[in-house]
Amino acid sequence: MSVSAVAADRSVCAPLPVLGRDVLVPLVTGGEAVYAALDYAASAPALQRVWDDVAAYAPYYGSVHRGAGYLSQLSTDLFENSRTTIADFLGCRADDQVVFTRSTTDSLNLLAAVLPQGTRVFVFETEHHASLLPWEQRAGVEVTYLNAPRTHGEAVDTLEKALAEREPCGPALVCVTGASNVTGELWPVRELAAAAHAHGARIVLDAAQLAPHHPLDIAELDVDWVAFSGHKLYAPFGAGVLAGRADWLRSADPYLAGGGASRKVSRRTDGGVDVEWHTTAARHEAGSPNVIGAYAIASACQALTEAGFDTLVARERELIAKVRAGLAEVPEVKVLSLFGDDAPRVGVLSFVVDGWNSSHFAAALSAEYGIGVRDGLFCAHPLVRTLLGSEPQDPGECGAPEAAPGERSLNAIRVSFGAGT
Ligand code: PLP
Repeated sequence: MSVSAVAADRSVCAPLPVLGRDVLVPLVTGGEAVYAALDYAASAPALQRVWDDVAAYAPYYGSVHRGAGYLSQLSTDLFENSRTTIADFLGCRADDQVVFTRSTTDSLNLLAAVLPQGTRVFVFETEHHASLLPWEQRAGVEVTYLNAPRTHGEAVDTLEKALAEREPCGPALVCVTGASNVTGELWPVRELAAAAHAHGARIVLDAAQLAPHHPLDIAELDVDWVAFSGHKLYAPFGAGVLAGRADWLRSADPYLAGGGASRKVSRRTDGGVDVEWHTTAARHEAGSPNVIGAYAIASACQALTEAGFDTLVARERELIAKVRAGLAEVPEVKVLSLFGDDAPRVGVLSFVVDGWNSSHFAAALSAEYGIGVRDGLFCAHPLVRTLLGSEPQDPGECGAPEAAPGERSLNAIRVSFGAGT
C-alpha cells in the first residue's frame, strides 16, 4: 500500500517538504501549518546522506559471505568495511569486536546471553527497560538493582558500595545508560567505569541516546562494551551494534545457532553433530546479515563525524534552552530531572502539566500545532515513577489515565531534538 493511500485514510493530512523530503503532517485549520517531529529520542529521521548512500548501493547489493560473484564480494566488502567505520566512530580498541544486531535491546540481550555463569549484574533502577530487564532473564545470573541516585557523586558512591559488598570473586557486570531517554541527563560514565574496574567488574554502556548526541569513545571512557541502535543514530530501522571486549563474546555459545556462525559442522560417530563456531563477531551473527542496515549505520557515523558533534551539540543546547525558557513561563509545568536543573543533558526533555492528561496534551500539540512529541512512561517505568513521586496508574507504555482538574498528569510528555531540528 502506498504512503498516500495510507494518508488518505487519515482525517486531515497533507504532504509538506521538510528536511528535503515530503512528510505527512496534520493540517492545522485556521492557522499556519507547522511541522516538527520533536521525537528524535524514539527514532531520528534518517539523514538524506544515508538514504542517498543506501540508494546508490541498491543496484549492487547481494548476499554477504555467501557468494563468489562480483555483487556478493562487493556486498561482503561493504559489510566488513562498515564494521571498521563503526569501530573507528566508537574509538574501539584494537582487539574489540563489533557485532551487528537488530537494536540496542538486541545488543544487551546478546550480552546477557554471553555472560559467564555466576555473573553478578549491577544496574540502576533508572535504566530504560532494554538495559534493566535482559539480565534477570539469563539463568545463573544474579542482579542487584541500585536505587535512583540524585547526584553524579551519589551514583558513583552507590555503585562503589554495592560492588564492595559483593563477594570479591567471580565475574561482575555494571550496566549504565550514557544519557537518559526520559530526562536527557548525562550519567558520569567515566567515573562509574573507574569504580567498576577498581572492583574487578566490567561495564556496558547503553549508548542508545548518547551516541546520536554526543561524541563517544570506548577507550577514552574505558567502558568494556557499548550498545546502540541505528534508528536513533539517523539510519533506518533494523540494525544495531554491540561493540567491545572479545573474550566473553568469543567463549560463549553463539547467540543464534545457524549458518554464518559455524566454521565446521560434522556428524559424530554416535549420530550427533559437532560444531566448530567462529571466534570472530560472526559467531553471534548467524543467518544472512542485514547488509543494508550495517551500511546505513556506517554512513550515518561518517556523516556525523564529518559534520562534527560541536555544531550538533551547540544547536541542541540552544533548542533545549529555548524550550526550557518557554516552559518556565507556564506555572503548571514541571520539568523532570534526576540530577537537578543545571545537570548536563542531551537534547531530550520531559515534563508534566498540572491538570492535564499527558496523552491529551500530546494529542493537542499534534492536532493543533503539528508538533509531534511522545507521551507516556518511555519504557522506563521505575524512573518515571521516581521522577513523578507517584505511581503511574497506567501500566501501558503510551496511554495515560485522566488527570482530575488541578491534579498533576500521571505520565509525562517528552520533546527531543537531533540533527535537522
Ligand atoms: N536504551 C535507551 C536509553 C533507549 O532510549 C532505548 C529506546 O528508546 C533503548 C535502549 C532501546 O532501543 P531499541 O528500541 O532501538 O532497541
